[in-house]
Amino acid sequence: MKTIITAALTGAVTPKAKAPSLPCTPKEIAEDAIKCWKSGAAVVHLHMRDDEMRGSMDKARFKETVERIRGESDVIINLTSSGEINVPFERRMEHISELKPELATFDAGSINVLPDGIFDNTVKFLTTLGGILNANNIKPEVEIMDMGMIAAAEYYLSKGVLKAPVHFQFVLGFFSGAPATPENLAFLKGKLPPDSTWSAFGIGNAHMPILYAAIAMGGHVRVGLEDCIFYSRDVPATNVDLVARAGRAVREFGNEVATCAEARKILGLGGK
Ligand code: ZN
Repeated sequence: MKTIITAALTGAVTPKAKAPSLPCTPKEIAEDAIKCWKSGAAVVHLHMRDDEMRGSMDKARFKETVERIRGESDVIINLTSSGEINVPFERRMEHISELKPELATFDAGSINVLPDGIFDNTVKFLTTLGGILNANNIKPEVEIMDMGMIAAAEYYLSKGVLKAPVHFQFVLGFFSGAPATPENLAFLKGKLPPDSTWSAFGIGNAHMPILYAAIAMGGHVRVGLEDCIFYSRDVPATNVDLVARAGRAVREFGNEVATCAEARKILGLGGK
């Protein structure tokens, strides 16, 4: 089987102080994206940071980063629809409708975040987001943090907000989401609509167990500093190191690392 590696380069919360190699400016993020693509990532999942390194939905930063990446590679671009707190919903979608990535995240429900916030993905937000993605031929990557979000995804499928076959990303180990264990991954993956494709990652210490479990269960994998900042105990990671190791794990298992063209075929993307 061909296994797709997604590199989640920056995220919105990983602290630069704890991850010295974290790319934060559009130039840094684009350079890391190219390096990860050369190391085997077929997809790059992008967030932006502002000058204080807080998560930002700044459209100009997304645009500069995407243009830099598109100028040098055919890597599949996956833009986040979240990452800045207390912003109007429109600001979480403008960059997507303008830049038309091949993939964009669709978090299938709301969830509490520490210390006292809500990652809000209301029915209205998701219905509007789904409409924009459908209108622009952008495939949603449906992020699942707990069982109820699969039920919610089925609701959006029934309403035409999502279209089959759906591509899922299991986000395991999020505060108040499903704990990141292979057992939970096996359970959740068993509940997906039968024609789905899926990928998974575990946050922090669960990075390796979920990486191996996803490969063993026939899924695709996501790695990167958004999710995990250590390569091994007390050894800081870089995005490229995490991608390269995922590639080795895939090949040692007996799979092949999917090229961008193969990933487009697996995910049913038209290419841009
Ligand atoms: Zn993200």
